[in-house]
Amino acid sequence: MSALEQAAALPLPTADEVAGLWEHRPNPAPASPEQREEIFGSLSFGVDFTDHMAHAVYEEGSGWQSKTIEPYGPLTLDPAAAVFHYGQEIFEGLKAYRHDDGSIWTFRPGYNAHRLNASARRLAIPELPVEDFLASIVGLVRADEEWVPSIPGSSLYLRPFIVATEPFLGVRAARRLDYLCIASPSGPYFVNGFQPISIWVSPDYHRAGPGGTGAAKCGGNYASSLVPKLEAHGEGFDEVCFLDAATNTNIDELGGMNVFVVYEDGSVSTPALTGNILEGGTRGVILQILRDRGVTVREETIPLTSLVADIESGRAAEVFACGTAAVVTPIGRIAGEGFDVSIGGGDVTKSIYDQVTAIQLGHEPDPYGWTYRVSA
Ligand SMILES: *Cc1c(COP(=O)(O)O)cnc(C)c1O
Repeated sequence: MSALEQAAALPLPTADEVAGLWEHRPNPAPASPEQREEIFGSLSFGVDFTDHMAHAVYEEGSGWQSKTIEPYGPLTLDPAAAVFHYGQEIFEGLKAYRHDDGSIWTFRPGYNAHRLNASARRLAIPELPVEDFLASIVGLVRADEEWVPSIPGSSLYLRPFIVATEPFLGVRAARRLDYLCIASPSGPYFVNGFQPISIWVSPDYHRAGPGGTGAAKCGGNYASSLVPKLEAHGEGFDEVCFLDAATNTNIDELGGMNVFVVYEDGSVSTPALTGNILEGGTRGVILQILRDRGVTVREETIPLTSLVADIESGRAAEVFACGTAAVVTPIGRIAGEGFDVSIGGGDVTKSIYDQVTAIQLGHEPDPYGWTYRVSA
């Protein structure tokens, strides 16, 4: 088990225990039920935001302070704020779901809390206590309860992040930073059914290299993925797939999703955690579920040439990507310079999607303790 999985398995305080820890300053002008209904009528991803946000400030010497759930709105920042110049920033992504009985739940918030801190350590950012992370999530979701949609496949997407806000142009770790968590109601990822995506393997670009920040969830990795993503779109593909920077031969991951291969013999492979790829929470959940099904799973090096040969020979039966936004998305075509292969079938992919979403939505028992009740 990875260090992150071990940390994520530690017990968490209950929502009631942390609910009041962050001061609540209610929005004096929240959206009306009609405005909310209108937003719910055309949900997409990351465009609409709720009435509140969680906010805390770190100052060297005094630690994290002024922890509040406050009205959502623009920040006033000094143009010299370090994040604008050197990109000292990390983020997380998780969802709150409404169960059929109206209760609201998140999924493995402890994992996200510990991963935020793992990213923090790599970016010279002060860690946020796990209890504060939880208190910010619980406080925000409770304040914006009505914003958790109940439309099938929808959820309230939560985006916690930390930015360096000290006004200072010298290059060093900032001594003032802000933590925020914003929330965005989001619609079903698969609007047209469980459609496979096509991926373009970037021949020249990498998102991260050895010793770099590939294992941290930081904005910089995404900034470097935008040009290759444009390139993929230009070639007519949905997403870009990156190879490892050291040898330019092995599958790393997509810009924001991990990759799995299902073989004809029933076994499953995913790239090993080399330090260049981001350790996805969904990746961990899928590994656990497959192991408990008795499937042989390997975390290993997957050379691109082997993957292409295995798809051509039929030895590889399914390829899919995974992450919080989509949970699981089948990959139907993989191409790059000099190759272009299609892959069909998706029974295992679909069964994983069904099982994970059933646990998240409370339709199936949760023997792992992954779901976390935020409010009744
Ligand atoms: C967030 C992210 C993932 C997926 O992580 P989840 O915890 O499963 O959402 C995969 N790759 C990258 C680069 C990411 O930033």
